[in-house]
Amino acid sequence: MNSEFSALLADVKEQILYLQELGAENFAVELPEFDDSRFAVQDSKLKTQNSATEISQQRLERFIPDVEILKKAAEPILKAESDETKNTRRSLLESTKLSRLPSLPKRTSTFSSFTNNNKPIASREKEMANIPTEEVPQDSLFGDFKPTLAESNETLEEIRADIGNCTRCPLHEGRTKIVHSTGNQQADLMFVGEAPGADEDAQGVPFVGRSGQLLNKIIESIGLKREMVFVGNINRCRPPGNRTPTLPEAKTCKPFLLREIAIVRPKIIVVLGNTACQNLLETKVGITKIRGEFQDYFGVKVMPTFHPAYLLRDPSKKREVWEDMKKVRDELNKLQ
Ligand code: SF4
Repeated sequence: MNSEFSALLADVKEQILYLQELGAENFAVELPEFDDSRFAVQDSKLKTQNSATEISQQRLERFIPDVEILKKAAEPILKAESDETKNTRRSLLESTKLSRLPSLPKRTSTFSSFTNNNKPIASREKEMANIPTEEVPQDSLFGDFKPTLAESNETLEEIRADIGNCTRCPLHEGRTKIVHSTGNQQADLMFVGEAPGADEDAQGVPFVGRSGQLLNKIIESIGLKREMVFVGNINRCRPPGNRTPTLPEAKTCKPFLLREIAIVRPKIIVVLGNTACQNLLETKVGITKIRGEFQDYFGVKVMPTFHPAYLLRDPSKKREVWEDMKKVRDELNKLQ
C-alpha cells in the first residue's frame, strides 16, 4: 500500500510543480495518511497558503519526497500491479483536486497553449522572420516549453538571515565559519564549487586558499576580475577532512544557492568539479564526460569544468580548463 501512496505522491509532486509553472498562487492539497519512515511524510494535510514563489525548496522536499526515489520504490510494484490496484491508485488520484489538471506527460504544453492555428509561437516567429531557427529539443517533461529561472523578490541578505546559525545538516558540527557566496550581485558569470576547504572555513570566504588563487587566475585569463563575478559553493560548511559532501548534505544546502542564482541571474555558470556539477545539474554523468559542453540550467548556460584543486594535483588538466574558459568568454561576448 505504501508503494501505491508513493506513486500517488510522485504524481502529486508533478502536478504541484505544474501548478507552480502555470503561476498558481494559492492551492490546497489533501494528502492521505502516509507512515513511511523512509520518506518521513507524517502530515495528513498539506496546505500551502503562501504564494507559490514563496514556497521554499525545503518545505516542498519536506512534504513531497524526491520523485526519483518514489518512482524507484514504486517501479517493481507498478510493473506487477493488477487491474485492481491500478484502479485503486487511479481512484485515489481522482479524489484529489489536482486530478482536474492533465498529467504532465499528457498535457498540452504551456508554450503551445498561447498559439494560433495550433502552431507553436516559435514556428510562427520563424515564418514571420523568414529566417532559420533551431528546433527546440523535445523532452518528456516539458515538451517544447523551456523552463526559466523564477523571478525572485528576495535579497542576498534575506537568504543569509534565513541561513542564520545553520544546523540543518551534519556539516555544521565541524565548521568554524559558514562560507556564504560572495561577489558581484549583477555578475554575468558565476562560479559554483563543492564546499569550503580549510582556508575558506577559517576566513568564511569561498575560494581563498591555493585553489582560490588559481581560480582568480582562471577568471583573469578571460579578461575578468574576481570582483566582477559571483562565487559560491553547493555546501557552505567544510566537510570533515575535506571529504565529499553526502547527497543529503548537498540537497539540504543547495536550495540556498539556487535562491542566490535566482537573484543574481548570471548569464553563465561555471560549475567546478564533479560533485558540484552532479549536484547542480542533478546528473550522474561524470565531469570528464560532461566538461567542455554547455549544459542548460533553467535557461542559464552552465559550463562544467575541472575544480582548481584538481588542477593543483594534476596541472596537465589546465589546458582543458583553458579550452572551456575560452568557450565561456566567447559565449559571454555573444550574450552582451
Ligand atoms: S552545509 Fe549548509 S545546510 Fe549544512 S549546516 Fe552548513 S549552511 Fe546549513
